[in-house]
Amino acid sequence: MAKKLVCDRCGAELTDKYDIDLALEGKEAWEETVRASGAEPRGILPCEHFVRCNGEMKLVDDSMVVRCRQWLMNLFNQ
Ligand SMILES: [Zn+2]
Repeated sequence: MAKKLVCDRCGAELTDKYDIDLALEGKEAWEETVRASGAEPRGILPCEHFVRCNGEMKLVDDSMVVRCRQWLMNLFNQ
């Protein structure tokens, strides 16, 4: 499965598997940091442009997006 991280504000993407694994390992530390400031984490780590976009990276399954798109296309083609 092709997974990637996408910023929910500026759309920056992180597709390197090693980077994603590192992000997943640091996930809890980030969530704790956000909760300590009284907010709910949206993603699993801050975007690399966090200072500018204030976004958080969300884990996206690429193949899921593809499957969903195909399903919609089939629906419209009937
Ligand atoms: Zn961003």
